[in-house]
Amino acid sequence: MRSELYIGGRWISPIKGGTFDVVNPATEDVIHKLPAATAEDVDAAVAAARRAFDKDGWPKLSGAQRAAYLRAIADGIRVRQQEIARLEVIDNGKPLPEAAWDIANAAGCFDYFAGLAEQRDNDRGEPIKLSDARFTSRAVKEPIGVAGAIIPWNYPLLMAAWKVAPALVAGCTVVLKPAELTSLTALELAIADEAKLPPGVLNVVTGSGSVAGQAIVDHKGVDKLAFTGSGPVGSKIMTAAARDIKRVSLELGGKSPFVVFDDADIDEAVEWIMFGIFWNQGQVCSATSRVLVQDGIYGELLRRLVEETRKITIGNGLEDGILLGPLVSKRQHEQVLGAIEAARAAGATVACGGRRPDGFERGYFLEPTVLTDVPLGSDAWREEIFGPVLCIRPFSDENEAIELANESRFGLAAAVMSKDDVRAERVAAAFRAGIVWINCSQPTFTEAPWGGYKESGIGRELGYWGLENYLETKQITKFVTEEPWGWYMKPSEAAQ
Ligand code: NAP
Ligand code: MG
Repeated sequence: MRSELYIGGRWISPIKGGTFDVVNPATEDVIHKLPAATAEDVDAAVAAARRAFDKDGWPKLSGAQRAAYLRAIADGIRVRQQEIARLEVIDNGKPLPEAAWDIANAAGCFDYFAGLAEQRDNDRGEPIKLSDARFTSRAVKEPIGVAGAIIPWNYPLLMAAWKVAPALVAGCTVVLKPAELTSLTALELAIADEAKLPPGVLNVVTGSGSVAGQAIVDHKGVDKLAFTGSGPVGSKIMTAAARDIKRVSLELGGKSPFVVFDDADIDEAVEWIMFGIFWNQGQVCSATSRVLVQDGIYGELLRRLVEETRKITIGNGLEDGILLGPLVSKRQHEQVLGAIEAARAAGATVACGGRRPDGFERGYFLEPTVLTDVPLGSDAWREEIFGPVLCIRPFSDENEAIELANESRFGLAAAVMSKDDVRAERVAAAFRAGIVWINCSQPTFTEAPWGGYKESGIGRELGYWGLENYLETKQITKFVTEEPWGWYMKPSEAAQ
């Protein structure tokens, strides 16, 4: 396990020397200490990133040259996939197979963006058809500059990859701050060092959001902020960015609906519903945490859902056969339990779960929970719980389902299940959300745009859209005729 900051291609201790504890959420043991960067360390990281961008030529490399570094990073991650996945488990708590999937996907993300970089070498700029034939014009894409990337704890290495890979391909240099709760694997991204990535192109600073994170947000040398996390912090970052007109992209929370019509296969629906809320202990921004089921199958579906939810094996993510690990932290555990209590007080019924499982005195474990009779105006129905807690309610017709689904200040994801493809497409079109799934929930592809409507964020990650997050658009217009322009004429000529 690394114990230093990665700045300018070197491992260094923070200038003021503070540390914070790394806690394994399955055991509550302190397993490591990491450096708590301050504004001075962030300053050094931004200076290194600026040098790499302004002087050392990272943005001047060809796409193929940058792609070669990214492919080497992808290979480096893959070679150590199991080891990095185990670090993710002891830091975040998720079951090992899920962590292994995350790490493979992080490597795949570097490969995918390397491919886009290679394609961009043939890109001489998009020609623009002008209304005046005396000019030609084209639009070229150029890197924004130094990107500050601030990420949450639910998919530590994967969220880092979603930002670092497109930023580097665009030609930006990066200062990355992982969440304090899960910083172990972001430091492993310094695999970049073995990939001979030039110094300063990627810098990793660990530390708290309020100190290290805020220092990145406020730094005049940072041109672009890419953030994934909670709405309140996202709002703060956007406000701060406004001071220097920094570019901002935000991936925030959600309270995503899943509409199941009564022609759906109940077993299939139960499986997707469970995947949509219990994967990663429900700590998923796009979790389909509000399930709406048509009344013809509501009773039977709920009975099957509760039956299957009770079978989920809970335990330390390093053990075999575990489907649900602990929540990430004591605070998160308390918050989710508090949200369940508040739902109960507001009139909801706990159909299953809702408490610490028997036999787990240590670790931040929580039974997977299904809530029914959740009042529409309650926090449980409206606010993100970010834990393994599902709210389910019946509906009678399509219009009611769409209305209930869209009645939210969030708009990250939405899902619909029906054997009637015309109806499913109609509902998909009606959803006010950035990601819509038909007959499934949560499949995520590096090639497809990811991000939300409304308060779920601004901008899109992944795919070509993710690359655009790190690019400026430059118009280049040329005067191409021998004719004089004729705007400025001497008074004597004008008089003739
Ligand atoms: P968070 O509290 O907003 O923290 C996210 C990151 O921001 C962490 O690295 C945090 O640092 C840092 N931070 C906190 N205050 C800051 C400040 N003043 N200036 C700069 N950085 C600051 O969110 P979280 O609790 O980690 O994550 C859960 C939330 O993220 C949920 O609401 C979830 O929906 C959302 N999320 C969204 C997506 C998506 O793709 N849309 C993906 C994952 C999560 P420290 O924690 O280290 O102090
Ligand atoms: Mg931890």
